[in-house]
Amino acid sequence: MKKIGLLTQILIAFVLAIIAGVIVGPGIEVVKPLGDLFLRLIKFIIVPLVLASLVVGVAGTGDVRRIGRMGGITIVYYLITTAIAVLIGLILANLFKPGSGLDLKLSEEAAEPAEVPGIIDTLLNIIPTNPIQSLVEANMLQIIFFALFLGIAIAIVGDRAKPVYHFFDGLAEIMYKITHIIMKVAPIGIFGLIAPVVGQYGASVLLPLIKLILVVYAGCILHALIVYSSSVKFLANFSPVKFFKGILPASLVAFSTSSSSATLPITIQNTEEHLGVSKKVSSFVLPLGATINMDGTALYQGVCVVFIAQFLGVDLSFTQQLMIILVATLASIGTAGVPGAGLIMLTMVITAVGLPLEALALVAGVDRILDMIRTSLNVTGDASAAVVVQSFEDKHGAKTSG
Ligand code: ASP
Repeated sequence: MKKIGLLTQILIAFVLAIIAGVIVGPGIEVVKPLGDLFLRLIKFIIVPLVLASLVVGVAGTGDVRRIGRMGGITIVYYLITTAIAVLIGLILANLFKPGSGLDLKLSEEAAEPAEVPGIIDTLLNIIPTNPIQSLVEANMLQIIFFALFLGIAIAIVGDRAKPVYHFFDGLAEIMYKITHIIMKVAPIGIFGLIAPVVGQYGASVLLPLIKLILVVYAGCILHALIVYSSSVKFLANFSPVKFFKGILPASLVAFSTSSSSATLPITIQNTEEHLGVSKKVSSFVLPLGATINMDGTALYQGVCVVFIAQFLGVDLSFTQQLMIILVATLASIGTAGVPGAGLIMLTMVITAVGLPLEALALVAGVDRILDMIRTSLNVTGDASAAVVVQSFEDKHGAKTSG
């Protein structure tokens, strides 16, 4: 049999899943265990992969200032691109008015507003009191903190810490290998994830909200084409075509799983192997991105709030829309990289502009469909940051060493 590339296999699985879902309908649910199998396989490597590769990346540098600079660039990039994403969402929603003239009934039940922890607590919570517990709970920010510290201290201690360094180095390599092995079953997994979603949603659920769905999809695609193309091209002198092609497997896995966290091993692998990003950069920028950088989620929240306001016949003032940019950016940072988390955080944005929480039910019915594309954008955004940060590192590294 002729060998077909993995990306082609994934794309074929995708098309087959859509066909099977449409033909079989809800009964295609029987293939779901295949999807769950793949999901569990990629999830189980996340914690050891992130810990080991970040420790090795940081210990290899050992330069605290350099790590600080890398962190600074990453966070600024994440914030700016996220705010632009909300802006694009707002512009499209105001232009195409997906919420006007809809004939839907609003339920009486109000959704629970998301608990918003204070900023001080949030920051303090990044420091683990028990790093083993952080690993057990897969608390990504705490793991990043722990790994940064370990790496820096290993570099300072030097010779006596070498065995620990080699341990993590070996562990990281093993995790990369496991990622490779697991990726071989990705086409089957993607089939098992996508087909049930297609089979489950009938036209009666999708059609009333088709405008909303189209606006969110168009917004995500536009954001990728405009913002990521220009940032990789102009900030990193990297070909946008090569960028999108290289990150496509991870984007498709994100689309299928609706989880940036679960996709992380594949995002790391794609950025390193297809986009030439070093382990040091990818192991820092990507886990952080999977936790706090959610351009797709922010864009979706912007669109949904305007959608709800239009449905209720409420006019949002310019100031309120500015407020949405701020709150949706913050809400997206607080969104966990798991399916449906963005919907819960949407309550924060709805409350901020004074709309009723019952309105959440309007979009909840199609949330999975919207989650797929926003997660895909979230992951692509993280990868674009990795390419940009890598280019900054290359330039600066060349300057300091030359
Ligand atoms: N599912 C998204 C993600 O994992 C988060 C969201 O629900 O918006 O990136």
